[in-house]
Amino acid sequence: HAGFACFVGRPNVGKSTLMNALVGTKVAITSSKPQTTRRAIRGIVHRPDSQLIIVDTPGLHRPRTLLGERLDSLVLSTLTEVDVIGFCVPANEPVGKGDRFIAEKLAGIKKTPVVAVVTKCDLATREQIAEQLLAVSALADFDDIVPVSGRSGEQLDVLADVLVRRL
Ligand code: GDP
Ligand code: MG
Repeated sequence: HAGFACFVGRPNVGKSTLMNALVGTKVAITSSKPQTTRRAIRGIVHRPDSQLIIVDTPGLHRPRTLLGERLDSLVLSTLTEVDVIGFCVPANEPVGKGDRFIAEKLAGIKKTPVVAVVTKCDLATREQIAEQLLAVSALADFDDIVPVSGRSGEQLDVLADVLVRRL
């Protein structure tokens, strides 16, 4: 049981830190799936019965030009190639325009499950985390939502299990 996951979110929300913390092994793998020829594999998360292959995050920016919009739809089509998407929003900053923009784009991708990930929880109090879980949940109808810290490692096993369940 193996599948592909990628993380999206504004710059600096902690995607790279989260991926590095999740990933146990960095190996180049060959797969019959066409996406592996085009997407960089960041690593593999090993779980008892399954493997989660983390692929590089495509940039998702607010489009300001027609060209930007076209690039954006390219990015969106690559998002449909993975089995599950992790949408990252930090616990320590208010939900803003950039987060809403990405959430709206993700809501348009019907076939790929989206798990919301509230990152950097080591920087927030329990109350702030609870409030952020509510605020992020209100952005879209996510398949799941998990608070984590890539820095402290808290809840990374829970996140891995939630993502694997959606493969
Ligand atoms: P990305 O742009 O979404 O890939 O974000 P990065 O992973 O590069 O992180 C952006 C900044 O936030 C860096 O300075 C990280 O050290 C910091 N950061 C990322 N994750 C955490 C976290 O869980 N806790 C804390 N305290 N800082 C974090
Ligand atoms: Mg990064």
